[in-house]
Amino acid sequence: MLSQTTAFDAMQARLRAAAELFGLEDAVFKVLLTPNRCVIVSLPVHMDDGRWEVFTGFRVQHNMARGPSKGGIRYDPGVTLDEIKAGAAWNTWKTAVVDVPFGGGKGGIICDPSTLSMGELERLTRRYTAEVMDLIGPDRDVPGIDMGTNAQTMAWVLDTYSMHLRETANGVVTGKPVGLGGSLGRTEATGRGVLISAREAMQRLGKPLAGATFAVQGFGNVGSQSARLLHEAGARMVAVSDRRGAIRNDRGIDVHALIKHHQEARTVVGFKGAEPMDPAELLLMSVDLLVPAATDNVITEANAAKVRAKVVVEGANGPTAPEADPILLSNGVLVVPDILANAGGVTVSYFEWVQNRIGFYWREREVNERLVEYMTHAFAAVFATTDKYKTNPRIGAYILALGRVSQAMRYRGFYA
Ligand code: NAD
Repeated sequence: MLSQTTAFDAMQARLRAAAELFGLEDAVFKVLLTPNRCVIVSLPVHMDDGRWEVFTGFRVQHNMARGPSKGGIRYDPGVTLDEIKAGAAWNTWKTAVVDVPFGGGKGGIICDPSTLSMGELERLTRRYTAEVMDLIGPDRDVPGIDMGTNAQTMAWVLDTYSMHLRETANGVVTGKPVGLGGSLGRTEATGRGVLISAREAMQRLGKPLAGATFAVQGFGNVGSQSARLLHEAGARMVAVSDRRGAIRNDRGIDVHALIKHHQEARTVVGFKGAEPMDPAELLLMSVDLLVPAATDNVITEANAAKVRAKVVVEGANGPTAPEADPILLSNGVLVVPDILANAGGVTVSYFEWVQNRIGFYWREREVNERLVEYMTHAFAAVFATTDKYKTNPRIGAYILALGRVSQAMRYRGFYA
């Protein structure tokens, strides 16, 4: 039977396990179990053909003890309040794991951006921004990009917010175009974080990254940037997939040539330097590194026992179901959990926000160097916590985050 666990259930299951091991007091646990605020907004939009359509949008703030909430806005037909709640909580843990002064938030609109014109997308984004105007702000809640949104979306949010405020508030969003206060290095930041996580994990196994084999599920922002950076570090990509299918070549896939093919074909399918393969098989290949970088709940109770990768670096959010964790652990698969492995994006978002606040912009080299420092520090802290509590790295990462968030909550006290 398929698992009925929702993304938010999966988050709560990990939180419960970590809280028990950490010995978290009941009052703080109860606060962290549910989001602080969930807002549902109704968004009338004038469509190009003259009709009015009404979309549904969400903004969730899970916890703000350590700073303004931070989290992307997702445009997708499958968006649910449950997944936005899970995303907001993951961002509370992720920002605490890399130790940047943010809390966790997330937003979304139920829509299919591929069927909307630029004008419709702009009107939808501006109406959403106006509806959540009182919730967001550089010191309140800072949205960013996620699936289905991009730098242009962020520019519209910035403009709408700034017009209402009568001042330019570029710190209200991250992932903006570089010419509008965006940070150099943001586009590849999550992939660069995956690269750093992969290198550190291989080092723990006593193996170099150069020459290691890897497979990637998903070839969007995270998948393609991770693949490119791993390839440039000397690792060999033997398989990759996207929504349309999967390809493999045991001698190695030329990632730069694949990126070129993908720019034209919008899919990895049909690439000349590889053979087609069954996408389900990609997750089960005997490789050094497996990078799920597409969507949640892909390594489950049903296939976990057949995963033969030495290391799983979770580029996507929530790719492993809670029931799969003990199976991977008992088979000796080292999992670098999502709240660490894909935290490079939120780390550079923090750098973007800092640059907006000081009005002084860093060179790309400085951004990348600081990212390496934050990620390697976080990686070491997660594994030190894992060893201390004799647990797996996922629960280790949750405990590290819980420690930091609960300490901030205790300092602040409960306002009643
Ligand atoms: P994206 O929309 O750019 O790319 C998603 C890719 O996954 C596409 O290639 C799509 O075809 C593929 N895909 C979708 N479903 C698939 C399936 N069932 N099998 C194989 N491939 C499939 O999205 P993205 O920004 O790269 O995000 C991917 C994941 O990483 C999401 O879980 C997202 O929340 C997470 N994430 C993204 C960032 C970021 O900075 N973009 C940061 C942290 C986490």
